[in-house]
Amino acid sequence: MTQEIKITKVAQSQAAGVDFHNIVMGTRFSDHMFICDYENGAWHNPRIEPLALIPTHPAAMALHYGQAIFEGMKATLGQDGTPLLFRPEENAKRLNHSADRMGMPAFPEDLFVEALKQFVALEKEWIPTQEGSALYLRPFMYADEAFIGMRAATSYKFIIMASPAGPFFSRKIKLYAEKKYVRAVNGGTGEAKAAGNYAAAIRPTEYAKAQGYDQVLWLDAHDFNYIQEVGTMNIFFKVDGKFITPSLSGSILNGITRMSVIDLLRHKGYEVTERPITMDEIKAAHADGLLEEAFGTGTAVGIAMVEAIGNNDFTLTLPEANPVSHMVNDTLNAMKVQQEADPFGWIVPAQ
Ligand code: PMP
Repeated sequence: MTQEIKITKVAQSQAAGVDFHNIVMGTRFSDHMFICDYENGAWHNPRIEPLALIPTHPAAMALHYGQAIFEGMKATLGQDGTPLLFRPEENAKRLNHSADRMGMPAFPEDLFVEALKQFVALEKEWIPTQEGSALYLRPFMYADEAFIGMRAATSYKFIIMASPAGPFFSRKIKLYAEKKYVRAVNGGTGEAKAAGNYAAAIRPTEYAKAQGYDQVLWLDAHDFNYIQEVGTMNIFFKVDGKFITPSLSGSILNGITRMSVIDLLRHKGYEVTERPITMDEIKAAHADGLLEEAFGTGTAVGIAMVEAIGNNDFTLTLPEANPVSHMVNDTLNAMKVQQEADPFGWIVPAQ
């Protein structure tokens, strides 16, 4: 049975003072947070409280040894005013997959979904209504035990907070095929949504941006040829009418947009294959005029169409039209504001 969630509300919501037409993503936070403590081998005291600073001991193990994982998802407002979530049970599963890899305790999946529903229902006025905008949700877990020494912590916090995200005007992206730094190796932590993975990507991303690219296209550590993923997105290519995306090798994040896009494309009659894909093969497809579209998939942007892929040695410029990418984007966006437009059962009302 799911534990009861105790709710303490703010005296006055700050939502009325927010200009939802001009939000810089990630800078404003909603009134409340969900918080739950792990101690003595169990999760205790699930509660929703006013968002506040969390006192942290300087020896909190997350700060030293990096036991910190997170999720990213979005709540939208249905046309009838119901807050809607997109496949929240998949985020619950992935959080626990990350937790397992990082030696952290699992969080009960039913409590994860129930906490999200109650939290989002309470923060309903924080969900922006403009097309393409959403309330970004950030569930995360970290080790808060004060201890110096290398072992799994015995106490953790699990928190969900929210930040309104204005309409994201997706523009085409240029990918830097990275040949010096790597994001992940088989057997590493690449398929966990672990904070440290993102820290390791910051400097290479800065270098790529300084050279005029938008995101890093991560390649494998051995041959610098097998394509993994891009920035905080998975990647798809349309070659000669069919879709391919790198298979989940253990070093790629199992994106929820990725799994949804695979199903959606197949539902629309396209062939989609998950398999190892090399940069050489993409270059050859481009040379033969068969590379028709490429796009990244992720919660933050949805679908990001790729304009070019390159590095100091080569540049592939993709065709300007991206008809299937647009169709996928529009179809996903439509279901996020209208549950009836979802034939898959992915949309979950939060009330
Ligand atoms: N890869 C990485 C490294 C990411 O951080 C994300 C964003 N969570 C994704 C892929 C896309 O995952 P999702 O579709 O679940 O947002």
